[in-house]
Amino acid sequence: SSFDELGLPKAINDGLLAMNFKKPSKIQEKALPLMLSNPPHNMIAQSQSGTGKTAAFVLTVLSRVDLSQPTQPQALLLAPSRELARQIQMVVQTIGQFCEGLIVEAAIPGVISRETGVKSSVVVGTPGTVIDLIKRRQFDVSQLKVLVIDEADNMLDMQGLGEQCSRVKSLLPKTIQILLFSATFPANVMAFAEKFAPNANQMKL
Ligand code: AMP
Repeated sequence: SSFDELGLPKAINDGLLAMNFKKPSKIQEKALPLMLSNPPHNMIAQSQSGTGKTAAFVLTVLSRVDLSQPTQPQALLLAPSRELARQIQMVVQTIGQFCEGLIVEAAIPGVISRETGVKSSVVVGTPGTVIDLIKRRQFDVSQLKVLVIDEADNMLDMQGLGEQCSRVKSLLPKTIQILLFSATFPANVMAFAEKFAPNANQMKL
């Protein structure tokens, strides 16, 4: 199997070539056709780090961004820590390096200017900062097409972060595609996940 079969835009394929990703990993091979489908479907994917899960959701995000509107936020990725948000931001920028106009910002404390607000195609952040920006009207979420939650086992824990994720979701367009990734889905997290991402395709690797 090859990335060509996915019909990704050339700029994205060029990014994969530059990273020397020659063929999809197992999770990418299984999840990408489902995540890239139109109309979009939600996904709950269980896979360990090291399996290529970050690239799997990053490819989906990049393929859903309309680069004629590069300063209009179109994808939101949430992570439990600033460090992980920065790592994901770097992967989006690296795979997206030939996507002309693409702007990727980190919505973590102290990064987004109070004057300009969020002015990027893709936003990678932590839930608290994202909520603050939306409430201050510094982050226009009206055109978001996809929401990704990485480390969903930590994020959808029913306590602090879980409530924050639910709050974020309640502020987003109702038709947004939701992708949840995690190394593990304990029963309580899976119950939360299935409500958070209704009718999701599920896969385990
Ligand atoms: P992750 O599961 O996201 O932690 O990714 C694990 C590692 O696999 C990262 O260093 C990626 O750069 C690498 N990787 C992801 N997809 C591929 C691929 N299709 N071919 C080769 N390496 C990959």
